[in-house]
Amino acid sequence: MKRTRFAPSPTGPLHLGHAYAALIAAERADPGEFLLRIEDLDRERSRPHWEAQIFDDLHWLGLRWPEPVLRQSSRQEAYDAALDRLIALGLCYPCSCTRADIRAATSAPQEGVPAQGPDGTIYPGTCRQRSMATAKATDAIRLDMSKSFKALSGNANAFCEYGPAHSGVHILTEDRLATSIGDVVLSRKSGGAAYHLAVVVDDAAQGITEVTRGEDLFEATFIHVVLQNLLNLDTPSYFHHELIRDEAGKRLAKRDDARALALYRAEGAAPQEIRRLIGLQA
Ligand code: GLU
Repeated sequence: MKRTRFAPSPTGPLHLGHAYAALIAAERADPGEFLLRIEDLDRERSRPHWEAQIFDDLHWLGLRWPEPVLRQSSRQEAYDAALDRLIALGLCYPCSCTRADIRAATSAPQEGVPAQGPDGTIYPGTCRQRSMATAKATDAIRLDMSKSFKALSGNANAFCEYGPAHSGVHILTEDRLATSIGDVVLSRKSGGAAYHLAVVVDDAAQGITEVTRGEDLFEATFIHVVLQNLLNLDTPSYFHHELIRDEAGKRLAKRDDARALALYRAEGAAPQEIRRLIGLQA
């Protein structure tokens, strides 16, 4: 059975861009199952009232999903088990670098802006030689991407993309992983799992067969497929949808004044009106 999900973070109101993502996920699931997952890894910014509003907004849009929903804040054990497995494979190292350390290590004045990956500046590898035995409670844990590429098993090193911008089969290459992505963080300094690890563990645990999400996460998919391969998890197919932008080309979800769905609701708009605004058939 086909199964998709919409995975918002309860750190603010949903905007038109979120409505588009949720409706696409539900549409792509049909006639299978559409799940809602609450990505509340960021404890500082997640709030119960934003979560309640997500439920209200999505119900209002006409979406339904099986209860209870999975919350990432309840999944630390599963993330720890996955991390332990990657550590046991010898692919991880502790990292104490701050953002300022990374900036200092990558800013050679003659070379302009340092190379950017899905998580910002590509990590320069300062702590790469450290062993896990030297890990302190305040260190982040990173994945050594070059080593990971070499450890991939041959049968699951590609993914199938159905989205409009990158449709086709994408194969993992060392150049893409080590040069354009680099050693990503799996566990943050606070000890909490980082997004890449959590999303892979949860999509597999929930039996997601197609991950639908915004195009801004296309590059991150290469990281996710590496983790699936190393953790022996199935790789779903992917559908990265276009981002909803305003007339000036700015992403609506990122605009400070982007209008929340709750505002349209309060003003008496109908869900069909939202569908029309984001270019979906009413
Ligand atoms: N929680 C992520 C977000 O709100 C979505 C991640 C995903 O769909 O993989 O942007």
